[in-house]
Amino acid sequence: MVRVVCPSCGRVTDTLVGGLCPDCFRALNPLLVQKKEIRLEECRVCGAFRLGGSKWIRDAGKLEEEILRRLTSFAEIRGVVQELTLNLERNTIKLTVLGKAHEALPESYVEAHELRFKISKTICDSCLGYVSRRKTAIVQIRARGRELTRDERTVIKNTLNVLSARSASKGLDHVPVEVKEEPFGMDIYFSSSAVANEFVRMLSGRLHFDVLETSKLIGVTNSGREKHRLTIRLLLPPFKRGDIVNIDGKLFLVDGIASGKIIVRDLITFEKNTLPLSRLNLNNVHVHASKEDLEEGIVVSNDGISVYVITSSSREMLEISIKHGRQAALFTPGSRVGILRKTDEIILVPRVLSG
Ligand SMILES: [Zn+2]
Ligand SMILES: [Zn+2]
Repeated sequence: MVRVVCPSCGRVTDTLVGGLCPDCFRALNPLLVQKKEIRLEECRVCGAFRLGGSKWIRDAGKLEEEILRRLTSFAEIRGVVQELTLNLERNTIKLTVLGKAHEALPESYVEAHELRFKISKTICDSCLGYVSRRKTAIVQIRARGRELTRDERTVIKNTLNVLSARSASKGLDHVPVEVKEEPFGMDIYFSSSAVANEFVRMLSGRLHFDVLETSKLIGVTNSGREKHRLTIRLLLPPFKRGDIVNIDGKLFLVDGIASGKIIVRDLITFEKNTLPLSRLNLNNVHVHASKEDLEEGIVVSNDGISVYVITSSSREMLEISIKHGRQAALFTPGSRVGILRKTDEIILVPRVLSG
């Protein structure tokens, strides 16, 4: 074996690589050389990051992926990148690289590199719309021929809360810019049309409504692009839970409304049925009496032949004969009932609990 002296450090070595001992060659030929500083933008509102015109990224793992994907635009790499760790709070982006700088080197090794970067603070697109309270889209929620119920408002507000909770990971535009509550409905303003649509999709799983979408030109941006305001009108059916409806001449209690179907109770047989709203012509469904219009009473006794009810307002005792076994089971003593007076008979209506 030939023993030679390294011209750089003067040590005796078996091999010369590029005229130097392996250690000196490695020191002068790192596996990674950063050529350009990494420039990151950070949203001062939500903390999202953007790397040179990328999308706004709100997840550290995704930001690492993006940096790795573009690594060759900041650095020259001669090895295989094994690991990247970001710790932007501690101001470090670390890369671990495995490889060897020259074929003649005996084995691969690992180098740790710290990358230089600079963060400039700005405001991301979704926060900008929100912060400037830009009203790009309105979702107007109404019900046909009536006010929205408290239950419906609760469902709408809960859905808004779920949506707003997404702002941490998806951007501040998931928080509505303004929510206007009126007796006849709710107007919800969003800074993003996409988020307004996302909200409507979420709500459609919880309430039934028809959707009417219109877009109106409201101006032109400085760069000449047309600005539109999107209006999404949601129209809930005229009936609601607890109402008595007339469908093709028969009376039903609306027990529940879910997306695409209503659950009704036949007020003659007291049987429950699920009707798909797609097959039901809503024009044939008429509100006979709304929940609020029903007189209230309490069942005093039920002997299997008749139900005795005392009315809450006038303390009048009513006797209603039982025609179906289901009636006997529904109207147990102590239960609250609705009273529907028709010209020839009185119909007891089971209470629909809210929620
Ligand atoms: Zn040397
Ligand atoms: Zn932001």
